[in-house]
Amino acid sequence: MALNLYNSLSRSNEIFKPIEENQVTLYTCGPTVYNYPHIGNYRAYIFGDMLKRTLSYLGYKVKHIMNITDIDDKTIRDSIAQEKTLAEFTEFYTEEFYKDVDSLNIIRAEKYTKATDYIDEMVTMIEALIEKGFAYKSEDGSVYFDIAKDAEYGKLSHFTLSDLKENAKGRMANDEYDKENAQDFALWKSWDENDGEVFWETPLGKGRPGWHIECSAMSTAELGDTIDIHTGGVDNMFPHHENEIAQSECATGHPFVKYWMHNEHLMVDGKKMSKSLGNFYTLRDIDKLGITPQAFRYWLYTGNYDTKVNFTIEAVSGAQTALERLYSAYREVLDTDNGIINTEYKDRFTEVLSDNLNTPKAVAILWELVKDTDISSSDKKATMLDFDRVFGFGLDKVSAEKPIEIPVEVSALADARTAARNEKNWAKSDELRDQIKELGYEIKDVEGGYKITKT
Ligand SMILES: [Zn+2]
Repeated sequence: MALNLYNSLSRSNEIFKPIEENQVTLYTCGPTVYNYPHIGNYRAYIFGDMLKRTLSYLGYKVKHIMNITDIDDKTIRDSIAQEKTLAEFTEFYTEEFYKDVDSLNIIRAEKYTKATDYIDEMVTMIEALIEKGFAYKSEDGSVYFDIAKDAEYGKLSHFTLSDLKENAKGRMANDEYDKENAQDFALWKSWDENDGEVFWETPLGKGRPGWHIECSAMSTAELGDTIDIHTGGVDNMFPHHENEIAQSECATGHPFVKYWMHNEHLMVDGKKMSKSLGNFYTLRDIDKLGITPQAFRYWLYTGNYDTKVNFTIEAVSGAQTALERLYSAYREVLDTDNGIINTEYKDRFTEVLSDNLNTPKAVAILWELVKDTDISSSDKKATMLDFDRVFGFGLDKVSAEKPIEIPVEVSALADARTAARNEKNWAKSDELRDQIKELGYEIKDVEGGYKITKT
């Protein structure tokens, strides 16, 4: 069955054909490690994971690279504000990111490439662009990409240079900007005092790379000039991905990416997520609301990756309930031997996935299977586990023991106790433990948190 994927470059569904038979090179734009990623970022990473899982399910060998942006305007700004070295500052958020990846059951990439490990490759690419006439040095020693020299600039976001306003003739030093401000963008930023101790001495002079060149250089270094699939959030289509194409194709002379795939925005309560609106969530925030990482994943699957989704507590709580029902259904077949994967269901499942990763239909087929009384428990178990290779709900980790339901008042007391312990208020902590005991539960501290059992 042919796999159909929507290619943002051609704006059409295309039959997927990798460069090398049965192998796929995949690049996903990763986090800028200056803070905890928000749930919109995780939509992009879960989408990349689900795509990778589907490709593996269909028999492809996938080589997946994701970058860690540990040098850009924001990491420098915030590391200086916190009086930390860039490495100290970014390492903390990089480690937190890996924890999130594991808690979301995202299959780790073949390699997470840190931008600071690829400065030489970036310099080489920038030198090639200067030599070929696509980049120039400005008065202060920075290097800019000359968008007017690239006849194809705008092909991903579908505009032509003549559509751009007057200011397209200027220069943009910032890493992030919008279409209204499309201008020559910085490949190499000459050191200035805002960069503090952050700089490299290179043949291009003392300075540091712009954000966009990082992905071009890392993708080329790890996966070659032309890759099969590049994924990312639609918000990165312009300018980031547009600039990646311009840099890579002008430097190497080869097409950069065969299939560009973008996930749509995640809205919260119908609005764009922003700290100022108070509707900004990280995984840690939704965990406090009792929503597990897997429930968040389940909820994302109830919409297609290329449609906008609207995060509301009600909707995601609904997903949490549905996922728990799924785990219960799996517990019922858990003790049986692993049977045979039901081919009829598998064929239908493969068909909807091959239709540009139709996860809502895939989830519906999973539920049909769960409710199908004509299928033996052992075959059901085998088929559910088979589907979970794509979903990643972690059915293989579900234990026979049903998790105890902790009443809200008990978890509130447990949270208050954690707060007391963080403040080293041991008397209060003991008092809260006794209150929990009175309600019939016992709390024990374990690594990274606590465990509650019924007494
Ligand atoms: Zn990127």
